[in-house]
Amino acid sequence: MSTAVGCEMHQGVAIVTLDAPDGKVNILTSAFLHDLESTARRLERKRPTAAVVLSAKSGGFIAGADIREIQRVTDAAEGAELAREGQRIFELWSNLPFPVVAAIHGHCMGGGAEFALACDFRIAAPDAAIALPEVRLGILPGFGGTQRLPRLIPVEKALELILTGRKVRAEKAFRIGLVDRIAPADGLLDAALVLAREAVLDKRHLLAARKRKTKGLRRWMLEKNPVGRTLLFRKADKSARARSGGHYPAPPAIIEVMRKGLSLPLPKGLELEAAELGRLITTPECKNLVHVYFLSQRPGKGHGLRVEARPLRRAAVLGAGTMGGGIAQLLADRGIPVLLKDIRPEAVAAGLEQARRIFGKEASRKKKDRDAVTGKMENITGTVSYDGFHEVDLVVEAVVEKMTVKQTVLKEVETHLPESAVFATNTSALSVSELQSASTRPGNVGGMHFFNPVHRMPLVEIVRGGQTSDLSTATLFEAARRLGKIPVIVEDRPGFLVNRLLVAYLNEACLLADAGVDWLSLDQKAEEFGLPMGPFRLIDEVGIGIAAEVGKTLSRAFSYLPESHLLPRIVSSGLTGKKGGKGFYLYPRKKKPVPNRAVDRQLGLRKLRNATVFDMRKLLLLMVNEAGRCLEENVVNTPEDVDTGMVFGTGFPPFRGGLCRWADAEGLPGLVRELEEISAEAGRRYEPCAYIKERDSFYH
Ligand code: NAD
Repeated sequence: MSTAVGCEMHQGVAIVTLDAPDGKVNILTSAFLHDLESTARRLERKRPTAAVVLSAKSGGFIAGADIREIQRVTDAAEGAELAREGQRIFELWSNLPFPVVAAIHGHCMGGGAEFALACDFRIAAPDAAIALPEVRLGILPGFGGTQRLPRLIPVEKALELILTGRKVRAEKAFRIGLVDRIAPADGLLDAALVLAREAVLDKRHLLAARKRKTKGLRRWMLEKNPVGRTLLFRKADKSARARSGGHYPAPPAIIEVMRKGLSLPLPKGLELEAAELGRLITTPECKNLVHVYFLSQRPGKGHGLRVEARPLRRAAVLGAGTMGGGIAQLLADRGIPVLLKDIRPEAVAAGLEQARRIFGKEASRKKKDRDAVTGKMENITGTVSYDGFHEVDLVVEAVVEKMTVKQTVLKEVETHLPESAVFATNTSALSVSELQSASTRPGNVGGMHFFNPVHRMPLVEIVRGGQTSDLSTATLFEAARRLGKIPVIVEDRPGFLVNRLLVAYLNEACLLADAGVDWLSLDQKAEEFGLPMGPFRLIDEVGIGIAAEVGKTLSRAFSYLPESHLLPRIVSSGLTGKKGGKGFYLYPRKKKPVPNRAVDRQLGLRKLRNATVFDMRKLLLLMVNEAGRCLEENVVNTPEDVDTGMVFGTGFPPFRGGLCRWADAEGLPGLVRELEEISAEAGRRYEPCAYIKERDSFYH
């Protein structure tokens, strides 16, 4: 039987190689854990002078636990037992009577990082990225991470790493004491052997050096006296609650387990950790977050079309406005040379400036070398001509939202492009099929609908017009993937998927406000549900003009959707939303937005009552119905498509797993009955569509 863990001797030192028999990366499945256990037992008997553990996979050390196993567990006792099992095996490694060095390159995540923590020493190659990302799946590191990390590095740093799940690169890992040394990738094993031999000769000396590095006044004040420590945990709790809005059970559990565990001997701390893992792993939040994780991995499965995408070597973007500047930045960031064209030189300059700003911000956020990142700006060439377009494989069009302009631009650019180039419009709601009618090669025309801000929003809708070829669809899908985005293929219906659901929701919120429901309290209800912002704040964010325009397009396309009169009223009042600094909120520079109560008077809104939970539920029900219609009309094929669009395109709360997951958890038949009741009063838009009436749930 092939095994994941190999072992050979080298001058008295055991070299342990991690190499799962199938798969490109090492995943901590139960079989892998079993191999780790038998290797530890063998080493106990063999008694080498030391051991070095390294991975044979080019991608990294260990990529984490098997997430399908997390999905499967529905019983708290079973979950706790799973954690105990991992802890027990890592304890075996930790208690081996000779020094063990983990030699880490590439990804060292989750259970992999916990295994490395159970080793005596860690040495990392410069490309090492260590993380405990379990919080993102609604659980905590359950193989000892919550206990071993704060015993190794400053508690403040340990809390930060476990509560955010963020990756730590080798250099920082060294600075905070998470790894003991850094070595070049091609000399990692040799350097690990040197460290192992030093540890055999004088382990105490090495441990003292580690202690000296992480010691300091700040650590002493915060961690070594009870008042400082209480403050530290309180602060962590406060910021975790602010980040999660109290919707995620894992962060407070992590803080509690770490706080209590630190005042207990390690075995007792580990027991606390296992029990909490058991509790968290069965929560709906965990299951939903795991579901969202799998949604995020769907692009890896490909587009499902039987063609191979065309290569993408050079690109062009038409229109250097809000979206064009962002799309050019993204292409440049991925090393794709891009021409950024506008009709106005000042717009080109502004587009380049926007790209530079994003690069600058990313550089300081990721603490990357500013020169290296800004060097990528050289991939963008600003222009007002079509020079160079004969070499381009992909054109993304992001000019103003007008069919006549877009068709003119398409006709014009086609005369400069090679035959094979694919043209993608970034339109929010115009018909790709109508646009295609202006093309001499309509098969090469499709949609690539990015979301604003481009560098932050993970979703891209790949729109298939009536004549878009499979080859073009596949090319656009792969282009989005290469840009690090999550593509979803959608059919060319008004609003595609995301804007159709979103605009129905925003429109309904406006109807409620016009009927006397206080808009600010409705925004609060949406936030309480877990949305990143309420509908009125979102209208400001999208831009009042665009929201009104798309609202009108959809009301025209779908006769059951009455157009709210509020948005056109706001447009004529001169308010533009965030971009002009004023909308439902005011946007003072560098400060948080504040509600702009003057709009009530300006727009003639009478506040008759505050919004209730039921108002928010109505908005959600409307979207569920609209999602059913999209599936019925084959705008998308599966509820996974809907949930991918909602979570990654609108920020629908991940802990709810997506709109369809939410509907299933509430019980679809019950929602259908509610819709029927509401429709009796509110009209056709609430009449449940056949798709949801015919099913008990979206997913089963
Ligand atoms: P914008 O007004 O900021 O930019 C449009 C740019 O196009 C301007 O710089 C203008 O000078 C330029 N332009 C006009 N005619 C041109 C031509 N013939 N050739 C080259 N450039 C030309 O608009 P935006 O917000 O970036 O939106 C662009 C497109 O993206 C629209 O179709 C919009 O619906 C879509 N979109 C916008 C958002 C958003 O949130 N802003 C989100 C998704 C999609």
